[in-house]
Amino acid sequence: MAKKEEKQENPEVEALKEKLLINRKNGFFSLTDEKVKKADDYCEGYKDFLNQCKTERECVNFSIREAEKQGFVPFDPEAAYHPGDKVYYNNRGKSIILAVIGKNGCRDGVRIIAAHIDSPRLDLKPYPLYEANDLALFKSHYYGGIKKYQWTTIPLAMHGRVVRKDGTYVDVRVGDDPGDPLFCVTDLLPHLGAEQMKKPLSQAIEGENLNVLIGSRPVRTKDGKGEDLVKLNVMRLINEKYGITEEDFVSGEIEFVPAFRASDMGFDRSMICAYGHDDRVCAYPAFTAALNCKAPKNTILAVLADKEEIGSMGNTGMDSSFLHYFVDALAQKEGLEGRDVLTHSKCLSADVGAAFDPQYASVYEARNSCYLNGGVGLFKYTGARGKSGSSDASAEFMAEIRDMLCRNDVLWQTGELGKVDAGGGGTVALFIANLNVDVVDMGVPVLSMHAPLEVVSKIDVHMAYRAFKVFFEGK
Ligand code: MN
Ligand code: MN
Repeated sequence: MAKKEEKQENPEVEALKEKLLINRKNGFFSLTDEKVKKADDYCEGYKDFLNQCKTERECVNFSIREAEKQGFVPFDPEAAYHPGDKVYYNNRGKSIILAVIGKNGCRDGVRIIAAHIDSPRLDLKPYPLYEANDLALFKSHYYGGIKKYQWTTIPLAMHGRVVRKDGTYVDVRVGDDPGDPLFCVTDLLPHLGAEQMKKPLSQAIEGENLNVLIGSRPVRTKDGKGEDLVKLNVMRLINEKYGITEEDFVSGEIEFVPAFRASDMGFDRSMICAYGHDDRVCAYPAFTAALNCKAPKNTILAVLADKEEIGSMGNTGMDSSFLHYFVDALAQKEGLEGRDVLTHSKCLSADVGAAFDPQYASVYEARNSCYLNGGVGLFKYTGARGKSGSSDASAEFMAEIRDMLCRNDVLWQTGELGKVDAGGGGTVALFIANLNVDVVDMGVPVLSMHAPLEVVSKIDVHMAYRAFKVFFEGK
């Protein structure tokens, strides 16, 4: 039997390691208790934001409300602006740009942080309401990439807007206040689930079966006769409360979202579980960094965009020209061309990354993964099948941002979404890069991304805020 060798530390080797190699230890150890407490305190505001904002519209309304308290005013194309002035551009109530005019205006380019405020959910179909065997239900069409089986038998809330033919509208929000009724998509009992349980997860729950249960009592008639009386009763109640008819749903945007409240997670309260971290966990730090950015050197823009989860299309998504036009308008005020401003601009595409999950280690590459509590993630590229669909930041811009994080003592990490060819994903980076802007992806690592309940680390959320703030301040 060999003699157990004692582990000898060679000071020469240790010194060389220290000088040349990366030391990836738990990020917690590089933070003082005071810094950890700062992160915890910051996240109280974030949880409040999550509870108030479960749709893109609610995020925009919240942003306007809070920004106006801090002196932001609606952008006026005719007005003259001076360093320190704060404006916002509300794009159709579903995306927003907040800007603080810099000391140098935009002549050396602007600094942009773009996050998205839409999240996966169940949208209603145009004709959603129906009755089947004395139950009233809503037909849904899911939005974004979901694992359908995760959306059954969880409490759902109904959020959104219905616009009547005359242009008047009503905002709906049921299921998030104490005492509100809830809704759900039912699932089969295991006793009768033998056939269903043989199916692959992707087929066990069909998209067409994601119907939301909304009522079971019929409208009371004298003789109890009549067709679809349960459906009629639900529509009667909806009409009493919201003043809409069945046809008004055609011009509605109703989203069914998880009714969970954002909560601390774990005995150590180190994490937050909530619906919609992707990408409100980057939107909130981008937003608060803009709010707290006083008189930056270059004009700064926080963009909170819609439609990322379905490809950034549509006039409220980042593939539209609204950011380009906004920069054009800013540039013109200073006698500059928008294209010249964009060419000299820098952007953080702020979106979540996948945190390494030891339960599913086989799809991650441990050396090139992000970890909970490792700090904000910096991602040179995203994409799938050989980086397809990625913006792929330049080495030069990566170096600049890496240097910024190190100089400002921001805890950060880097990695990829998972193993090569295990899958992949994209962000808004490429759409902004198309405007000839230097862009790199940065964001918070998330566990259970796109599930109704996602998990992040409080330290990572705060590090995203700190990174965004120093980026805006040009530090
Ligand atoms: Mn995202
Ligand atoms: Mn997503």
